[in-house]
Amino acid sequence: MPDVIKLLSDHVINQIAAGEVIQRPASAVKELMENAVDAGSTKIKLLIKDAGKTLIRVIDNGSGMSDTDARLSFEKHATSKITTANDIFSVTTKGFRGEALASIAAIATVELKTRTAESETGTLVEIEHSKFQRQEICQCEKGTSISVKNLFFNVPARKTFLKSDQVEFRHIMDEFHRIAVAHSGIEFTLFNNDEQLFHLVTGTLKQRIMALFGNTYDQKIVPLTENTNLVSISGFIGKPEYAKRTRGEQYFFVNRRYIKNNYLNHALQSAYTELLAKDSHPSYFVFFEIEPGKIDVNIHPTKTEIKFEDESMVYAILKAAVKRALGQHNVIPPMDFNQETAFEIQPVKSTDVLRQPQIKINPNYNPFAEEAKNNLHNAGFTQPVRNEQQKAEHRNSIQPDIEIPPQVIPMEFAIEIKWHENWGKDYIIAMKDEKLVLINQRLAWEKIFFEEASAALQKNENLPSQKELFPQTIQVSAEDAGIITTLLPELRCLGFDVSDFGKQTFIIYGTPSGVESGVAPAFLESVVENYKNSRESEIKNPGNALLAKNFARKIASKNCKLLSPEEREVLLEKLFSLASPEIAPEGKKVFIELSPDKIESWF
Ligand code: ADP
Ligand code: MG
Repeated sequence: MPDVIKLLSDHVINQIAAGEVIQRPASAVKELMENAVDAGSTKIKLLIKDAGKTLIRVIDNGSGMSDTDARLSFEKHATSKITTANDIFSVTTKGFRGEALASIAAIATVELKTRTAESETGTLVEIEHSKFQRQEICQCEKGTSISVKNLFFNVPARKTFLKSDQVEFRHIMDEFHRIAVAHSGIEFTLFNNDEQLFHLVTGTLKQRIMALFGNTYDQKIVPLTENTNLVSISGFIGKPEYAKRTRGEQYFFVNRRYIKNNYLNHALQSAYTELLAKDSHPSYFVFFEIEPGKIDVNIHPTKTEIKFEDESMVYAILKAAVKRALGQHNVIPPMDFNQETAFEIQPVKSTDVLRQPQIKINPNYNPFAEEAKNNLHNAGFTQPVRNEQQKAEHRNSIQPDIEIPPQVIPMEFAIEIKWHENWGKDYIIAMKDEKLVLINQRLAWEKIFFEEASAALQKNENLPSQKELFPQTIQVSAEDAGIITTLLPELRCLGFDVSDFGKQTFIIYGTPSGVESGVAPAFLESVVENYKNSRESEIKNPGNALLAKNFARKIASKNCKLLSPEEREVLLEKLFSLASPEIAPEGKKVFIELSPDKIESWF
């Protein structure tokens, strides 16, 4: 057999290496912005064209480079940030491997202009496919401007793996947010296809968060601080009532470097214990300051994981700090919080006496009696249900048998029962077709709103809208503003009269009639969240009903309250005039029916 092993040429080696550091335009954005931060800049400007596929340009006012450094910076393993291997354990800069610029230069056309404060003239370097094209003196501002054009032009395989511009730009936005949150002392500007999306002036962390994610964050977050010998923790955490169904704004930074860490995420989330609804996630912006020697950053450059020397200690400190922050800001009811120190807050005091569940019944009450018609309000019975398990057992103990004729049958009577003060859900008991019907109010609204919404979206008709006496104004992040703008026609169908006011601001002139005013901001927020987690085709497709479901769920829970007899009638009439009222959009039963025989069989 002939010899088959060959040494790869330099440019193949470079391309392979580059692929590890620069996987998509967002990776180049991250590296270039980090270099600008490392250079001590106070102003950083990012310009993007076609999701970075055509142009990524970062302009900073940092230290700049001498003409020799300007050229050297593109060499492999060329860095000013470490000299010996030991230095790795004390690095405070984001970069230190000297790989980024070399990698980018291997797969794009790069133009660098740079000038230091001491030098009157700057240096221009142009490099393509790892080859220097020119280096000359130029006039430029102090600092560095670096343009990356035609990324992956010589790596077609990588290019075909890139996603749509929308997706690639979202990755760029993620990187931009991570760096902008971490450095509120730096002014950032972002232009996308010549449109200015952000101009973030310097300020506090809270001001930066509001500028990026909307001014409503003022109300949504509470400060977090903890200082120990091992680690200092600072930042903000979201109030539980604003937790989202999808992981939204969750940021951990270690020494201002963005990291992902499931273990610490668990610590944080578990500090909220009972405060969060199922499957909801709080926002957080948490900064850990720790001696560089106590963490291991010597991992792959594109990985965002980091190792702590004493991770379980950091876990405990974080959890306690979050509990304390929630308690101090009255997010936890004050009676549950009576400790000075951060460690362990007991959810139930030892002096609490646990009571047996009580059942109160009115022994004279007979739902089938004629007189009940005239005396509905006094006829109610209450049965406090103490916990989720009991509620679930209670629900399961009644076996529904659904055989409902579709025609509308007048209700003979209807009463409403509230099981538990804090439960927030209630049930309506009605007589229908000689059967006792137990209706879940929330699911009934959900079903009604869902049917109305999906019909309106499919026919492209507008549901009636009621004018707001005082139109509300909301300001959102640039990304969210883009999403709301695309969905404006659908929102109008649903009865939301929303106008784009520019500058990421929207004015809400009207909400769907019959719906409490004031729901619009929360609804828009959840629509945006859903949208981020679905494909546009899914959410915009009326047949798919994602938007209708989202609408129904949100509006129904807001609409759930103790109803007047008239309101109850409207609800029942609307519900039972639907073609199949028994099944809610998510497949749950809206009501169960009990025939006299069934009831008889219990006794
Ligand atoms: P690293 O950041 O790991 O050192 P890079 O390839 O990103 O490696 O950059 C190589 C070197 O080029 C840096 O160490 C730094 O000295 C210099 N450099 C890169 N970008 C800038 C910039 N924007 N301003 C000043 N110097 C820079
Ligand atoms: Mg770097």
